[in-house]
Amino acid sequence: MGMSNWIIGMVEDGTLCPECQGAGTVEVDHYHRQSFDVPYGDIYTTTEECDNCSGEGTIEGEEW
Ligand SMILES: [Zn+2]
Repeated sequence: MGMSNWIIGMVEDGTLCPECQGAGTVEVDHYHRQSFDVPYGDIYTTTEECDNCSGEGTIEGEEW
């Protein structure tokens, strides 16, 4: 049947956060220019708390 696939993304405590897929953190890319004369620079990534779920990984009280 395959009709149960819709349940993916649902967890016991709520709905899995679509932004971080339940991780509670998201990777954010930062582009750090050297100067105005140099069109490229360092790119680094940091892991930050997900704003969408406040780091919980799930969204409570929301329905699809
Ligand atoms: Zn999230």
